[in-house]
This record gives sequence, structure tokens and C-alpha cells, in this order.
Amino acid sequence: MKVPAQSGLYRLLPSVDELLQQKELAPLTESEGRAAVIAAARTVLADLRSEIGQGTLDEQKVTLAVDSIADAIVRRLRTDLAYSLLTVINATGVILHTNLGRAPLSEAALQHAREVSTTYSNLEFDLDAGERGKRDVHVNRLFARLLNSAQREVSTVVVNNNAAAVMLALNSLAEGGEVIVSRGELVEIGGSFRVPDVMKKSQAILREVGTTNRTRIADYEQAITERTRLLLRVHRSNFQIVGFTEAPALEELVALGNAHGIPVMEDLGSGALFDLQHVGVAHEPTIADSLRAGVDVVTYSGDKLLGGPQAGVISGRKDLVAKIRSNPMFRALRVDKMIYAALESTLLSYAREDFDAVPALRMMRIPAEQLRTRAEALAQGLQHASSRYSVSVLPAESAIGGGSAPGATLPSFALALTFDGMSAHELTDALRRAETPIIARVGDGRVLLDLRTVFPEQDAIVLQALVRLAQQ
Ligand SMILES: *Cc1c(COP(=O)(O)O)cnc(C)c1O
Repeated sequence: MKVPAQSGLYRLLPSVDELLQQKELAPLTESEGRAAVIAAARTVLADLRSEIGQGTLDEQKVTLAVDSIADAIVRRLRTDLAYSLLTVINATGVILHTNLGRAPLSEAALQHAREVSTTYSNLEFDLDAGERGKRDVHVNRLFARLLNSAQREVSTVVVNNNAAAVMLALNSLAEGGEVIVSRGELVEIGGSFRVPDVMKKSQAILREVGTTNRTRIADYEQAITERTRLLLRVHRSNFQIVGFTEAPALEELVALGNAHGIPVMEDLGSGALFDLQHVGVAHEPTIADSLRAGVDVVTYSGDKLLGGPQAGVISGRKDLVAKIRSNPMFRALRVDKMIYAALESTLLSYAREDFDAVPALRMMRIPAEQLRTRAEALAQGLQHASSRYSVSVLPAESAIGGGSAPGATLPSFALALTFDGMSAHELTDALRRAETPIIARVGDGRVLLDLRTVFPEQDAIVLQALVRLAQQ
């Protein structure tokens, strides 16, 4: 058969107008919008033109492609109009996984956010006075309740994330002046949060003291000048310094600050309201511990150990928090009503001591034995369904994550799998592409599914996805 000139092949392609008349596509211009259907049709036509241009298609192939062009356009449209942000199943055992959205929100938090966001709300309206109010009040009262101690009254403001909180606090309290930090705390949290860079951007001057492993209170004292505005402590969220180490206690830093009239700020990072000692993790300070030690201002994330929405929280001395609140940068960093609603709801769970209502805390508190039982049930179901899997239940270690308690783990159990005809890495790839993507780890040549971070109602979905893979 003689292949016509390429220009002849282009003529076989229908026009966008002709395509829109086709019976498969005409109704879609109603349901999905004309613009979206036209865009999908143009993409499919452009792909075909490019293939013709490359000389990869003969007349017969072009004719076949044109015959099924409506299907191709419908598929394209479905992809174009599908969500990109999806629910995934976290089988990594890392509870606060930054790549997977950190803390899952509670049903109550979401319901409250839905209620106040789908209608109007009193976000900045004082219902008693009938005049303009401040959005801060909705959570300030709860933070005060959870953090106030006998000696001091705590004020709180909320911004977009903890990076913003640190930046805003430094700029408000130390712009143009010096901030003293130990060299052992000049950390990088990841995603470009580096203490020296944040300091520079906030227009404060970093004054580093001590060494990587040892900093004494005298090092801070010797660095104090009339330019000093702040003593800063930064939580080592993602690493530990062990061996020949020294750092002054928070109380010593506070005493030094008091003696010189210089406030002490602590970037807690994770910021626990719930004492992790209850789940066997020692040495993770709570927000209240820091305030009780006399720290003037603490900053922390809303979606790490707190278990709420993404936010940065600044709590501390009333006058300093008021100064931070009056910084014009606050307006650029403030958060939306949905965040206030989710945060308010999360804090109410703490006020009620209903820790299981906060999903991240619930996951930390699940006894390992419960996870073993679930893993064994899954293992049995899978062995029943397919002989292509070799399945066992192994002890595992879940991590809290989110820069809290580095190195601390919780005992857990994992479903360990190998699959006939696929390597462990191929199997994790396939699980990631499941209808509800499942994110798993590989260890010792096996795929490991740690059930601590899998919601119990997701066990059935995991089983179904694994069985489906075996049937392909
Ligand atoms: C996580 C963390 C941050 C950054 O917080 P985001 O809420 O991610 O902006 C800053 N400092 C410390 C010590 C942290 O652990």
C-alpha cells in the first residue's frame, strides 16, 4: 500500500467542531463544560498531529485512531478533570509524615470547618458587642486554658506554619538587633528551613556561640551586648548529638535572660500538648514545660504533635505576643477560618482530655497487640485469597515523625510480604498505583506494611488491593 504524503494524513483528522457534534461528546459539553471538552479534543488532536509529523503513523493507523478518537477524548477529559490531591493509605508507620500531609484531622475538626466555612461565621465579628472583632479569640481562650500556669497568663496567635511563626517572632522581637543561638542548634529542618537563613530574612543578626557539641551558659553570657534582643533555643527536631555534649538547662537560659532583661524564645518545632511519656517516649518537652521553665515565647506547628491543621503557633508573654500580633507581617501570614475551626475543635478534644479523638494521638496510643491481631487477620485473608504471596507478621518500629522526639520509636507489627514474580520494590510501586494508593516500606527484601498508621477501616481496602494485584 502506498503511504500518502503526510499532508494528506493531516486531512483525515476531524475538526474540533466536527468532534463536538459526535454523539459521545455532545452530552459531555453539557455535563463537563464546553471549554473542558474542547481542551481535551485539542490535546488529543495535537498528539495525533505530532505522531503524523514524526512519520510513525500510516493511513490505516490514522483511520483507526480517528475511529476511536471520541474514546481517547473522553479518557483525556477524565484525567484533566480528576483530582490530583488524593487520599492515600499510609503503611509506613511514620505517624506525622510530612510528605503524606502530616496529622490527619479528626471528624469533629472537619465537621466544624465545614459548618463555619460553607456559611458565614463570626470569624472577625464580636457577637456580644455587635462590632468588628479579632479572629485570634477563637483559639486564644483554649490555648490559655491548656497552657496557663499559676504564675503566668499565656497569650497565643496563629499563623500559616511554624516557619512563619519563627520568622514573624524574630522580626517582631529582634529586627536590627542580635539573637544569640548555640552552634549546636543551627539546624536545618528540611524543605529549606535553616535557622541562619530564616534569621537573615527576618532582619535579625545571628550571633552564634559555643561549639557543635558543647555550649555553656557562660558562652551566652559573654556574647550579650547592648545589641542583644533575644536568646533563642531551637529544638533539635531531626537529629541527636550524643557523646561529649553540654547545653545549659532552659532554666539557666531563662535566669540569664532575666538578669539582663532579654527575652528567651524557644522554637519547639513539634510542640506537644500531650506528654509523650504516656506512650513511653521520654525527653520530648511539652509546650507547658517550656513555659513553666520561664521561656517568654514558644513557637510550634499545628500539624505535628498537636495533631491539628497546618498552622504555626506563637504562645507566651502577653506583651511580647501583642508586639508580634501588631507586626504588619502578621496580616500576610494569618490563617483562614477553616484552620481556626479545625484548630478550635482539636483543642477542645484536649480540653476534654479526649485524646483518642485526635487521630495522631490515637495512633500513638494503640497497643501493639491490637496491631498484631489486625496484621494476622490480614495475613490469613491474603493467604486464603492467593498462593502467590508469602506472608508473615513481624515486629516493627513505628516512628512519630514530624521532627518530634528524633530516634524515638513505638513498638508495632507489620505485615511482611513477598510476591511470586515481583521484587519487593516492584510490589511497592504497584501498591502506590492502586486505586487508593498504598505507601509501604521495603526491608530485608520484603514489603512491610506497618498497621499503626493504617486506619482500621482501611484494612479491607489494603487486602482488596493486594488480592487484585494477584489476579492480574
Ligand atoms: C518542623 C519544624 C519547623 C518548621 O515547621 P513548619 O510547621 O513545617 O513550618 C521549624 N522548627 C522546628 C524546630 C521544627 O521541628
